[in-house]
Amino acid sequence: MLVTALPNVRYLTGFTGSAALLVVPAEAPPVLLTDFRYDVQVRDEVGEHAAVRIEPASLWSGLRDVLLGLEGAPRIAFESAHLLHVDFERLAGDLAGRWHWRATIGMVEALRERKDAEELACIREAVRIAEAALERTLREVRTGITELQVAGILEHHLRDLGSEATPFETIVASGERSALPHARASHRVLQGGEFLLIDFGATHGGYCSDITRTVALQSVNPEMQAIHDVVREATLSASAGVRAGMRGRDADGIARGYIEGRGFGELFGHSLGHGIGLEVHEGPRLARTADAPLPPGAVITIEPGIYRPGWGGVRIEDDVYLADEGPLVLTSFPRELLIVG
Ligand code: ZN
Ligand code: ZN
Repeated sequence: MLVTALPNVRYLTGFTGSAALLVVPAEAPPVLLTDFRYDVQVRDEVGEHAAVRIEPASLWSGLRDVLLGLEGAPRIAFESAHLLHVDFERLAGDLAGRWHWRATIGMVEALRERKDAEELACIREAVRIAEAALERTLREVRTGITELQVAGILEHHLRDLGSEATPFETIVASGERSALPHARASHRVLQGGEFLLIDFGATHGGYCSDITRTVALQSVNPEMQAIHDVVREATLSASAGVRAGMRGRDADGIARGYIEGRGFGELFGHSLGHGIGLEVHEGPRLARTADAPLPPGAVITIEPGIYRPGWGGVRIEDDVYLADEGPLVLTSFPRELLIVG
């Protein structure tokens, strides 16, 4: 099997560089190809997990050599979601007919869904860093500054507390923009009496956290409080009710059923959650169309929301480990509607 997705290469070998191809033969040790920039690092990180080749020219020509050297390997699986057609052409070229190529999808990703103790510890640390950064940030948020400035304060604290990276673009959305589920931080200036939604994460050991809280700026009106209460109850009921072995659609249904019962079903248009790990969006899925059972050992998000266009929105997102004995909520930041600024 040829592995070309970098998170999958990292998962299988430990290599964190930005250029790598991994060949996993059926009958021989794996071969990792990278370039001169990673000569020292790759040996430290990979150890005995793979034989390393430093390619002076191109990884793809090196890969041809490796494949040609594998006697009796007529079939090669590749990751159809990650191998670019242009690279495939470059690789196969005049040798296209020599191998039988088998498209696969999600093979390594399926292994990644269950976390071991070391992976769980990394995610827990990423949660701890993120929550500490949010606490510091909310003490500094003031009306009159922009969403971009809030993102800047938060990202400063994340780095200061040891986050290796920002696993995705920090979402900061205020006022009517909080009704946009995936709003980027903008130049909009925060005002009193409106929502501020922050969706962000930290990274530790390559593993992500993914958290959302929605707070009120200076004051709150009864409608804001009522909608926030519904989302909070939906989050809590789904976090308490989700189980390994349950279908993703049934987990989604816990929160969706609650929100529909309160009359806001039309305003919750996205799915309930997703797995987190080396990537911020990975399996399993918690959605209306997700038939697969949730595997034990997965770390998932629970993130219902209610979005009223032109008015504002609320999302509360927690990270949950699906232990054999039941769900373990990793996030502990308060879920009550905090008033800041
Ligand atoms: Zn998120
Ligand atoms: Zn998420």
